[in-house]
Amino acid sequence: MDKRVEKKRLSHRERYDAMTHDLHWETTYQPMDKVFTLDKYEGLRVHDWQQWQDPLHLTMDSFWKSQGEKDKKIYAVIEAFAQNNGHLGVSDARYLNAIKVLLQVFAPVKYQLHRSLAQASRQLRGDAVRIAHQMQGADNLRHFQEITHAASIYNKYFNGLHHVPDWFDHAWYLQPAKSFADDLASSGPFEVMVASSFCFDALLSDLLFVPYMSGAAHNGDLSVVAAGFSAQSDVARHRNAGIALVSFLIAQDPANLPVIQQWIDKWFWRSFRLMPMVAMMQDYMLPKRMLSWKDAWNEFVEAPVTELFAELAPMGLRLPTGWKQACDSKHHLSHQAWNAFYGFGDALGFHTWVPGSDELRWLDMHYPESFDRWYRPRLDHYAQREAAGKRYTNNALPMQCQVCQQPMMFTETGSPRWIAYRETQHDGEHFHFCSDHCESIFEHAPEKYVQATLASHATLHAHGNSPQPLKATLAGCDMNIGRDSGGFPGSEDDTNFTSWGGGQDMKEAQL
Ligand code: ZN
Repeated sequence: MDKRVEKKRLSHRERYDAMTHDLHWETTYQPMDKVFTLDKYEGLRVHDWQQWQDPLHLTMDSFWKSQGEKDKKIYAVIEAFAQNNGHLGVSDARYLNAIKVLLQVFAPVKYQLHRSLAQASRQLRGDAVRIAHQMQGADNLRHFQEITHAASIYNKYFNGLHHVPDWFDHAWYLQPAKSFADDLASSGPFEVMVASSFCFDALLSDLLFVPYMSGAAHNGDLSVVAAGFSAQSDVARHRNAGIALVSFLIAQDPANLPVIQQWIDKWFWRSFRLMPMVAMMQDYMLPKRMLSWKDAWNEFVEAPVTELFAELAPMGLRLPTGWKQACDSKHHLSHQAWNAFYGFGDALGFHTWVPGSDELRWLDMHYPESFDRWYRPRLDHYAQREAAGKRYTNNALPMQCQVCQQPMMFTETGSPRWIAYRETQHDGEHFHFCSDHCESIFEHAPEKYVQATLASHATLHAHGNSPQPLKATLAGCDMNIGRDSGGFPGSEDDTNFTSWGGGQDMKEAQL
């Protein structure tokens, strides 16, 4: 009789080693340098890849199992939301504009993060780090799909969601996000990983997901809440992996430190320059507000990131160069962004409006240092013009920063009266920047950023003679001016939602 073989049950750690490090082999038919062609050109030195450990020791099989289970739950919630006409239960139709920003700006960034991570992880000769970043790439694809699926119900009923991928490629106000994604996709593999899992996920992503989730919950959108929760649990893992990666690279060789620090300086700032849209979503677009941008910044970035860098300081890392300016701008960012986009409101894929009197009081209460003095007078002026039937529209083209591609709408630190503006010359041409930090990113690699196409320049070439050139460019990418853009009051979204009896449940619940 055969002797029964007792299978030894591996511990979690042994299983992780077996599924990652033990799968590694050195190629013989071709030299390793030909198989992994990109992981040396950035100049980082890695002496022993086996030293890298995923902090959670996650293996590919348990990854797919847990993600599959999460997906089943999310899609059940999304389905139930659609079956029960969930779109009528949101607070009011202005909320949909927050969803439009999520779909137009951040869903495509997630998709591009997936592509960049898939490409970068293929280039790494360390097996464990490769597997961890492949999982992160898959996570980002899943987040893109979930956000898109969660919001797809709204596309049946509301405007501004019907050509999102096209707009990401062509619409002027989405170029900051597209340029972020293009910059990432054209970076080396180590830079992609430090940018994505450390600078975006570990330093700033809580600012994106937590306000979106709680904003969705407060405004009756269970569909997006479910998708946000799922993404947030992955991002917590990415954050740990990002910190582990940065620590590993610095421990491998002291010569890596200045390169890593320069990437942290660059990608913290580039990620921060995606945040004006989140800031204005929080302070202006949510009919039911819960947390101001400033409070979210204090809680999810300023305190934890300061603590994180205190822990990393013994390795020689310091806070990013743009840190102080980013923290100082918490009093201003949402107001400056809303003011700029309200002005260009006819040339956007979402609606803008002047907040009601209760909302102005809320802003005043949450921004005692800045709102009443600098921003309320402008909103009062816009309200007067709207009441007189003469809504303000900025028909000019915005000057854009050569690096982040945001319109020049940010003011000098400590001086909210003056728009920040930097200029430099390269190869006989002038280039303009929104900040010292974007200028310094340019100066580090001018050959890369001189190639950036600015939407305002392209518009001038194509529609320079048009009275409203920005509107003219959007008409070419199936944006229906007036339905998808312009003021909210009296828009099709507004009148339809009211005629369908939308928002009644929430009003009754408050009585
Ligand atoms: Zn800039």
